[in-house]
Amino acid sequence: MDLRSAYPYWMLKHGIIKSYPSLTENIHTDAVVIGGGITGALVAWHLCNAGFETVVVDKRHIGMGSTAASTAMLQYEIDVPLHKLMQLTDEQTANESYKVSYQSILNIKDIASKLNTDIEFKMRPSLQFASFKKDVPGMQKEIALRKKIGIKTEWFDEKVLRKTFGIEKGGAIFSTRAAQVDPYAFTHALIVQSMRKGTRVYDHTQIEKISYAPRGVTLLTADKKTIRSRYIVIACGYESQKYIPRKVQELKTTYATISEPLNRNDLWYKNALIWETATPYIYCRVTGDNRVILGGEDDNKQPSARDKALSLKTRLLKETFNKLFPHIAFKPDFKWAGYFASTKDGLPYIGTIPQRPHTYFALGFGGNGITFSVIAAQIIRDMLTGKNNDHEKLFSFNR
Ligand SMILES: Cc1cc2nc3c(=O)[nH]c(=O)nc-3n(C[C@H](O)[C@H](O)[C@H](O)COP(=O)(O)OP(=O)(O)OC[C@H]3O[C@@H](n4cnc5c(N)ncnc54)[C@H](O)[C@@H]3O)c2cc1C
Repeated sequence: MDLRSAYPYWMLKHGIIKSYPSLTENIHTDAVVIGGGITGALVAWHLCNAGFETVVVDKRHIGMGSTAASTAMLQYEIDVPLHKLMQLTDEQTANESYKVSYQSILNIKDIASKLNTDIEFKMRPSLQFASFKKDVPGMQKEIALRKKIGIKTEWFDEKVLRKTFGIEKGGAIFSTRAAQVDPYAFTHALIVQSMRKGTRVYDHTQIEKISYAPRGVTLLTADKKTIRSRYIVIACGYESQKYIPRKVQELKTTYATISEPLNRNDLWYKNALIWETATPYIYCRVTGDNRVILGGEDDNKQPSARDKALSLKTRLLKETFNKLFPHIAFKPDFKWAGYFASTKDGLPYIGTIPQRPHTYFALGFGGNGITFSVIAAQIIRDMLTGKNNDHEKLFSFNR
């Protein structure tokens, strides 16, 4: 699958952070993670810290799938707002999903603090503005529901929004808990620390066949090497669908651009992550070196049309940004695009399916895929260690 355009910003910024070998011998292990993106890296980190002998394989280079294209806004807000999620699922599932997502921002902060590497992790507030006046009543209802479950938000009315952000819209939900990170550096930092704890990592190693036996699995690589393992974790991002008998993901293409560095530290109020209620929505944030990352303009284009549309989409994104912030001179420096997947209820799929024994899926779909990846890593660690995890049911394939 052609996951993304050729030159996402993080890859240009860092180039090759570290090289990993491909697999050249037959091996065995406790757990094998297929996929060395942010999800696989988080799963491997949690498994090795829980004492599992772990192997990570990736058919590309580490972090060079969708992860390299991510704008990495870390938000607890699920693409489906709480009041709508309650209708799509039930009140308890919706509340619990939001609560675990809210907590996971702090969990990422905790993980980031243990890596001793600069991964540009920063806690930030987030602001979701009303794209249209008609969205305001639903947003106010949303705030009340979130408050009931302990999620702290504030309503910024038209006046406050203008005063704080200079944005001319009908109102906005301001949340104090969100964060941002460099997703490519984060992935490598997790992998490097996991390797120090014994995890073996092989890139350019494609899994072609999986055979199941009563006590484990045998994986066959494209180079005809075998990996025998008790457990297998599928963290293949949007290429995971082929391992699942029913369709769980809807693919879309999203576009992103990053500005030249601006010579101001505070581009807007607390450099919050900004997004909106419209579908598709625009999203933006400020990097450590004062660049604005801007994304959106989602469509159904296939990769060849996607790449041709990059310049036009960048122009459209810039125009939208200029309307929001006429006083900020956004000069696009780099542009890229990639697939992202959504699910019918906005929730990820995490856990097992009966057709694939010993196998655990870590599929963080949706706009906040990385938040879901952390949740997936922790649920799967608990499943493998036999520890009860109350969130297992929320994201299971049985829903
Ligand atoms: C432009 C853009 C902006 C985004 N913005 C955000 C955002 O702001 N916040 C957010 O949370 N999310 C965002 N996302 C989504 C986020 O990037 C993804 O959720 C995340 O990167 C998925 O990571 P992953 O590790 O699951 O997948 P990937 O990074 O794609 O990693 C999966 C890996 O599996 C490997 N693989 C697949 N099949 C095999 C096989 N058979 N054998 C060996 N290896 C295999 C692949 O090579 C790949 O490297 C964005 C996505 C895009 C494209």
